This record gives sequence, C-alpha cells and structure tokens, in this order.
Amino acid sequence: MLMKLCLAAIQLLLIAMYVPAVSAAPLQSYKEGELIVRFKNPQKAAKSVSLQKSSIIRKFQRLPVHHIKLPAGVSVQEAVASFKSDPNVLYAEPNYRVRKSVVPNDPNYGSQWHLPLISAPAAWDLFAGTRAVGSIIVAVLDTGMAYSHPDLAPNVWVNSGEICGDGIDNDNNGIIDDCYGANFGSTTQASGDPWDDDTADSHGTHVSGIIGAAGNNSVGGAGINWAARIMAVKFLHGPEGMGDLIDALRGVEYALSRGAKIINMSFEVDEDSGSLRDAITAAENAGVLVISAAGNVGLNLDQTAIFPASVRSPVNIAVAASTSSDTMPSYSDYGRHTVELAAPGGFATGSADAVLSTVWLDNGATLYRTTAGTSMAAPQVAGAAALIWNLHPGLSAVQVKARILNGVDQVAAFAGKTITGGRLNLEKALNALDIPTVFDVSPYQLNWNGGSITVKGANFGVSPGSIALAGTTMTVSVWNDTQITAVIPQNAQSGTVRVNGQGSGFPVTIVPLITLSASSVSGVAPLTVDLTAEIRSAASITKYEWDLGEGIFKAIPGTTSQITHTFVTAGTYYVRFRITDNTGNIVVESLTITATAETATLPSAPESNGYCFIATAAYGSYLHPHVRLLRDFRDTRLLTNAPGRAFVSLYYRWSPPVAAVISEHDTLRILSRWALTPIVLLIEFPLMTLMFILLSAVAGLACANRNKSYHVRLTHSLFK
Ligand code: CA
Ligand code: CA
Repeated sequence: MLMKLCLAAIQLLLIAMYVPAVSAAPLQSYKEGELIVRFKNPQKAAKSVSLQKSSIIRKFQRLPVHHIKLPAGVSVQEAVASFKSDPNVLYAEPNYRVRKSVVPNDPNYGSQWHLPLISAPAAWDLFAGTRAVGSIIVAVLDTGMAYSHPDLAPNVWVNSGEICGDGIDNDNNGIIDDCYGANFGSTTQASGDPWDDDTADSHGTHVSGIIGAAGNNSVGGAGINWAARIMAVKFLHGPEGMGDLIDALRGVEYALSRGAKIINMSFEVDEDSGSLRDAITAAENAGVLVISAAGNVGLNLDQTAIFPASVRSPVNIAVAASTSSDTMPSYSDYGRHTVELAAPGGFATGSADAVLSTVWLDNGATLYRTTAGTSMAAPQVAGAAALIWNLHPGLSAVQVKARILNGVDQVAAFAGKTITGGRLNLEKALNALDIPTVFDVSPYQLNWNGGSITVKGANFGVSPGSIALAGTTMTVSVWNDTQITAVIPQNAQSGTVRVNGQGSGFPVTIVPLITLSASSVSGVAPLTVDLTAEIRSAASITKYEWDLGEGIFKAIPGTTSQITHTFVTAGTYYVRFRITDNTGNIVVESLTITATAETATLPSAPESNGYCFIATAAYGSYLHPHVRLLRDFRDTRLLTNAPGRAFVSLYYRWSPPVAAVISEHDTLRILSRWALTPIVLLIEFPLMTLMFILLSAVAGLACANRNKSYHVRLTHSLFK
C-alpha cells in the first residue's frame, strides 16, 4: 500500500515536472493576401501601396480606410510589419474573420415573454395605434433578411433611388437593384440581393423581426418597433454566419450612405480593430447609433475585449442578455465599465425562455422560432432606439442613448455587471427626460491620490453645473454639453460619477494606496526586521495578508499593517503585503529583504582551504554547489540549539586534519563525496529522498549500496 502511494506520488511529481506547457494552436482568424490600412495622408496612399508592391482593392468614401491586395508570397504578418514601417501608415491590420454572436438552436415555439418584460405594450400605447410618425431606418449588419417574410415585408426598407428588377444601377451607387439592402462578400462585386442564406438560424431574419416585425397585423408575432424600416446589410454568409471584417466595413459605409440612423451589430470579432473603431467613429460623426451584442462567451469585457461591443464610443451601446426571470444567462458577456445594459436574450436552447421572432427555415415552412443569445438582446435596444427617435425626431444620437440608459429597470443581477446595473424598459425609455447622463469615465480606476478624469455623456448643458463621485463634488476644468474634465480629490470614495446629481452614472474605483517600509532591508542572518505598511484609503480594509518571502499570502493572527519578523536563513526575500477593501479592491505592495550568510560569531567555513573537509571533498565536483546548503543547514538548524552548536564545534575541531588528509588523496575525496551525497539530498529533498529509500527497500531492489546510490542520483538528476 505504502509503495503504491509512493509510486503514485512519484508519478505525480514526474508528471508535474515533465508535462510541457500546452499552448493552443492559433486559429486562422483572418484572410490571406489582404490588409486593411489607414494612411495618415490618403493623398499619398498610392505611393505607399506601390512601395509595398501591393494594390488598392477599394478606397472607402465614408471610412478612412483602404482595402489592400498583397503581392503573392507575402504573408499577412510580414505585410502588417512592412506597412507599419511606412511613416504614412496610421495602422495596418489583417482582414479579420467575423462571426454572428452564436445562437443556440431551439426548434420550439414560445411566447414573446420579452415584450411584456420590457413594458413594450405600455410603450406601444403611446403610439395610439398609429405608425405615421416617421420611419427610422435601422440597418441590420448580419446574415441578410428574408425580406418576403409576411411579418417583415411591410417594414422592409425600400431604396427609393432604385427601380427594382430592371438590372440597372439606377441610383448609381455601384450596386445593381439594391432595393432592400445589399450583400457584401458573396462575390467581389456587391450584390443587390441580401437574402438570408443562414439555413441554421436565419440569424439576420430573426434579429430583424425583433426590431421591427409588423405588429398588430394579425400575423405571427410583433417586433418592438412596428414602424421601423429595416435595411438588410448582408456580410455574414452561410449557416456558420461567418464573414470578413472588410465586408462589415463596406456594410457600415453602405448604411451610412443610405440614411440609416441605427446600425445593429449582432456579431463578434475577437481582435481589436482600428478600422472597426473608425467605422464607429464615422457613425458618431454622422449622428448614427450603433447597438452591439456583448457576445456569447461569458466573458468580462472589462478584462477581455470583444468587438464591436468593447469600443467605448458615445454612440455605441453594448447589450448583455437577460432571461425571463431577470437573471443573466451564463453565456452572456458582461462588463461593469463596458456593457451598458441588459435586454432579453433568453436562457437556453430548448427552453421557452428564448426570444420568439421571424425566421425563414425549411424553404419558408418555418416562419417563427425561439432562439437565445446576446444577438437577440441587441436588437431589442435597436428597436427601442428607433421607437424613441420615431416619437422624438429632434433628439441627437447621444440623447437617444441617454434615454435608454436612464430608462432601465434596476435589477440586482446586472448590478456590477453593466454600467447602468439595469435591463431595458421600453416604456421608461420612451418617457425618460433629457437629463445629464454619464456614458464613460476615463480613467475609471484611480489610486488614493485621485487625479483628473474625462467624463463623456449627454445633456450636461453648456454652463457648468456640478459633478460628484459618491456624493463628493469635484473641481471642474472643462465643461461642455457632452464632455467634462474634472479632478477627483485625494482620499475619495469609490462610487458613481454623476452630473448635477441626476441621470445614469458611471462607476469609478478608488484603489487604496500602500507604502511598505522596513526597519532595514539588508543585514546578516538571522535578521530581524520591522515591516510597516502605511495604508491610505477612504474605504475600510477587510483583510490584511503577508507573504514573508514564502510565495504565499497568509493572514497572520493579531497582525494587520505592522509585523516584526526574523529572516533566519541567509537569502533574498520577496516580501509582499496584500489588502482587500470593502468594495472588493485588492492591492499588493512589495519590497525585498536581503539577509547575508556570514556572521562574526560563526566559525569560519572556507570553501577549500583545508579547514572544512566537506568543502575539500566537494571541491570541483557535483557536490560543490551544495556546500552552501550544508552551511545554511548549519546556520539554521545546528547553530540555533545547544547540541547542534556542540556538534559544529566538534566538527571544526576535527575537520582541519581530516581535510588535510583527503586533500592529498583523490580516492578518499571520492569516498567522502559518496558518503556525503545522501546527506545533501536528505537536506535538500527530504521527502523525496526518504520515499526513494523506502521504495527501494520495499521493492527489494537495493541491498547493495551501488543500487541505492543509482536511485538516489536519478532522483537528484530529476530535480536539477
Ligand atoms: Ca444601386
Ligand atoms: Ca434598378
């Protein structure tokens, strides 16, 4: 039994030591032979491109980017590096792959629980049954749309500049018969047919129906905005719903060029993309709102970015998913500083807790289905934004965003996981006032010393009012309607930044400041040191932990921010102090203590001068590096007690003559080394050595010293 345990322990150790670090193979996440480049001076783009022996596939009109074709044999990575070395290049990035925010399949019909949950019926009452309140164009950048679906056809955007089906590009935008939208990436030339070819999910059709399926028309279900005009902008293809970033950019440009006010982006890119950021900036400049699915990986986007959800823009709204019971489903990405709010996205495949909307499956035999995902949550907000704009056409994009944020229902499950801590409420959003609303604070984490912050939002007003963090007023240096620069004072509390004490705010964290000091940072071992941590924090500290050079934190009973410790053994100690405050902040501070080996009172232990026979025997051999180990053992285990000191004294009395003899005879030196080896190992690896000795004995392998020596040396070699 014991042997089994030993063997198991040895196996575990061997596995722990010899299994190499596994790293996942990188996925092919971009298209070969192409780049997306932004030039500082677009006039000189042609020159820069020809220097790289590349060519321009497309120059965008509304986005500041070029689509570049690389010469044969040049890898994307090489080309990115090469382009970046050109001073006229602002950024060069791969044409990344984009995927729909994956939707779990659900073949069952369910009820549209999401509509009463967000108070849609009450909101619809505001329309008094009319849809003659203007038509906001919502572009759905997705897998396309089944535009002849009976519940979608009434609300499909129709391009007034195009005569459908005549085979002529009537509006002269380069796309023939783009009547309901356009299709990018199926062929080199954009097509005018954005029909949804996602036979697995009908993703774009489902998203479109959530925004604007015709309501109150005795057909199927209802969308949020019965008066919306849905523009189908297809760039994701096939049942996998994959596409290329460049085609998403073409889609954004198309939507902006055709008058869309809202762009729904229920898709994800893992890579940070300058061009996607620029596309959202172009939307901002055009006064267009962007609604982004937070993504379906269950990530905290404050730590791991997903795009476009993670783009911090005054016109971008990132949306997490909520369930019918107002919880956050585990798949939903979230982020206290990144994701604005939650909206119904449903729980899971196969449950009634998913969102019912329009699809075109089985060649039109299936027209409705429930699916779940943040892909379903984003269009609820897009529909709400369109409804607000329908009723209040004079609002700016940031004012529409502000109304949505101010109109949320505060829900415990979304507190700390979203900026607003709430879930979409359509009725409240429609009735919300234009009050100061904070979208973003940069930086949102500061230390005790405070500092300057930039606050972005809406409805701040043109004349300075007041801005406060957790109720403490700040000094203002810049104030305009959408941006404020203010100073957080020293010793402020973590909390929410709010303007004029109104509206939705933004969480800011004040991290305690630690100054760690020692009465001395070096000296001869045993070294006694007073360690003192000065903590500056407005929050209360709930946990104090020390790591006295052992590599682990421990709460030391009776000790908080001051401790006296003796470093017995010579060595370099990496001392750390860690606190946790009542808001969950964890702060670590460290310093290094060096305890040196030699002391005036210890007997001298020269390495090979003939006094210490151990050093003499080990000199120049594999044991040589371990002499220090024996000395440490002497200093910490032997010199600290009376019998030990007697032994050391005895050793140094007899050692010089022994050293003198063995230094003259190589055979004696070798024999001495053999004799010393088990002692060294016993000190260095006591458990392992004992286990091997035990194992050897039990297995009956080693009665001879040679065998034992063999096993011991094997163990040793494992650890070197
Ligand atoms: Ca056209
Ligand atoms: Ca035409």
